[in-house]
Amino acid sequence: MFRQAKWDEPLIFELSREGRIGYTLPKPIEDVDVKIPEKLRRKSRLNLPEISEPEIVKHYTRLSEMNYGVDSGIYPLGSCTMKYNPKINEEIASHPGVAHIHPYQDERTVQGALKIMWELEQWLKEITGMDRFTLQPAAGANGEFTGVSIIRAYHLDNGEPQRDEMLVADSAHGTNPASAAMAGFKVIEIPSTEEGTMDLEALENAVGERTAGLMLTNPNTLGIFEDEIVEIARIVHKAGGLLYYDGANLNAVLGKVRPGDMGFDIVHLNLHKTFSTPHGGGGPGSGPVGVKNFLKDYLPVPLVSYDGERYYLDYNVPKSIGKVKELYGNFAVMVRALTYLKIMGREGLREVSEVAVLNANYLTRKLLGTRGYELPGKELRKHETVFSAEPMKRETGVTAMDVAKRLLDFGMHSPTVYFPLIVHEALMIEPTETVSKEELDAYVEALKKISEEAYSSPEVVKSAPHNTAVRRVDDVLAAKKPVLSWRMYLELKEKGEVDY
Ligand SMILES: *Cc1c(COP(=O)(O)O)cnc(C)c1O
Repeated sequence: MFRQAKWDEPLIFELSREGRIGYTLPKPIEDVDVKIPEKLRRKSRLNLPEISEPEIVKHYTRLSEMNYGVDSGIYPLGSCTMKYNPKINEEIASHPGVAHIHPYQDERTVQGALKIMWELEQWLKEITGMDRFTLQPAAGANGEFTGVSIIRAYHLDNGEPQRDEMLVADSAHGTNPASAAMAGFKVIEIPSTEEGTMDLEALENAVGERTAGLMLTNPNTLGIFEDEIVEIARIVHKAGGLLYYDGANLNAVLGKVRPGDMGFDIVHLNLHKTFSTPHGGGGPGSGPVGVKNFLKDYLPVPLVSYDGERYYLDYNVPKSIGKVKELYGNFAVMVRALTYLKIMGREGLREVSEVAVLNANYLTRKLLGTRGYELPGKELRKHETVFSAEPMKRETGVTAMDVAKRLLDFGMHSPTVYFPLIVHEALMIEPTETVSKEELDAYVEALKKISEEAYSSPEVVKSAPHNTAVRRVDDVLAAKKPVLSWRMYLELKEKGEVDY
């Protein structure tokens, strides 16, 4: 009998029945006399669940069905680029020669691994128009911190310690101002125009001799290309600042336009977004940072270099800001990224962006005009689209959060909500290039159905989700009284502190 998994699935210990066996150990070799010292011998029975193989398989399969991942269906979490991860990536990343090497091994014994890192760097340089990369940062945010630390080191080195202001677009990801503040900068927010791009007049007024740099993503988080980027670069450079590219949205412009050509001095990439690799709850990231030649002496150590004969860890980086992560970064993510790049090739990468942009625009056009949702800013989008459920909230009380929760009942992952902050009741949808037209159609249909429900029976939407393993979570309670394990739950239940 198929049973939908629920949050209160029995524990494996509760399924245990004495005498049931799921695994047979090999017989001990008889003529070897192993003497285990008395003090190391177990005094009490080993408390393991006793369960048969089919039962254990069903148990963990049910638990896995409570989750939703990139292999389950559309996962259009805006800004996150949750694309399908080709299975060959996993095959290569788990190859023993890749998976079983150790970071402390002698360079001569890991020439292949160093070559992977070096080759990956060459691809990233070509794609971005940068001159040198560090692969060390563990994710985008770590890359941002690396990048702004380089900006600080550069200005100090030039005898300009007064450059302590970092300009950040008001549509920026929260990690931008956070990274700048962590590196000791004062954050200055630059507003966007009605069109959804940077307000040039506000930028002109903000720059000055305290300007250290500007952090920008292009296309921005509204999915809109900053078409005044050359002018933006001119304004910032003229004031003596540097231009930092948040590369999280690179999926929109692969093989089309390069941050290096737009005037950026430093970029970070999110390998786990643009170049596949399951991330978020699903795995680690990698946030390489690339710089123009005049900044390469500030990069973290070691870099990976090649002298024509051998690959080596290069500590000859005179003004290095030091290490930003232990050892060499998340190597397995680099392996997946290089696999992806080599399989896609030049033409394939260009097509990735074309289809990602086409999908976002197709979805935008199909959803446009649906009651309750409106599209702020320019209609032409790149790889993601941001609708506002503000009219729906005003007219029915149904919020963007309610819409997101109701989508779960349709078996679909919700979009990003309430980001970017400049759009009220934001629904930020990034389908990526890896969904089919049928999936896009079904997603739009679900959003339209929810709009109808909002106007006819809003309670259904407001009380969603109705058929998921876990119903709507009380965010405040979860933050104030987190129940992080079954044991905690049992203890709290005993004390009467939880009522579920
Ligand atoms: C995801 C993202 C980041 C942060 O990257 P992480 O890899 O999650 O640390 C920064 N900026 C934008 C626009 C993003 O979408």
